Amino acid sequence: MKEQIETLIKLQKIEAEAGSVKTVIEKVPEKLQALDTRLREFEQAMAAESSLLDEMNKNYRLYESDVKENRSQIEKSKGKLASAESNKVYQAALKEIEESEAKTSHLEDDMLEYLDSIDQAGKHIVAKKDEYSQLKAELERKRMAINQEAGRAGKRLAKLDAERQVVSKKIDPGLMKKLTKLKGIIRGSVIAPVKDAICQGCNMNIPRQMYNDLQRLDSLKFCPHCDRMIYYMKDEG
Ligand SMILES: [Zn+2]
Repeated sequence: MKEQIETLIKLQKIEAEAGSVKTVIEKVPEKLQALDTRLREFEQAMAAESSLLDEMNKNYRLYESDVKENRSQIEKSKGKLASAESNKVYQAALKEIEESEAKTSHLEDDMLEYLDSIDQAGKHIVAKKDEYSQLKAELERKRMAINQEAGRAGKRLAKLDAERQVVSKKIDPGLMKKLTKLKGIIRGSVIAPVKDAICQGCNMNIPRQMYNDLQRLDSLKFCPHCDRMIYYMKDEG
């Protein structure tokens, strides 16, 4: 019976490890997806900056055409000035020229400022492109690491499965059936150690007599509170 109990504990350890290895494997697609999402988000941010720069360049060309229009207005007014036959027309043309020149000068100031913004946006895009290639390389390294981890986990799982099959054969079929039934009822492990008369599966005290019997390791016991199969574990404290 002692051997059966030890085999059961071994089986439980194998199954617990297989469970955590499976979790590692199951998380792989999600992890890879997260890397893709990060790269895509960065690309989207870059595209947004690029289209903003395009927009700015378009606006700058609008400024240019405004200035051009003003200049031709000034030329027209100068023509009026040259051919003015009365002082009133002359003064009016002079005023037009003054106003157009003021407008142009104001526009040109704005353009300089705008050009500065365009320049900065362009530099930012260049820096972002640099950042992008670094990010891409970093994500590629991570992808490789995840795939390697998945590969290792897959191998480990295959080994654990083989071990489980070997160990399972050593367990009495009737007992195995009972454990399988327990697995359907209990969450987590179905075999729990008892330390200092406390079931480690449910943290409840087991009856003194049962605890005494348990220490002899000659019969299978089940926790009266949680139904787990229990075994004696020396209290090291
Ligand atoms: Zn219990």
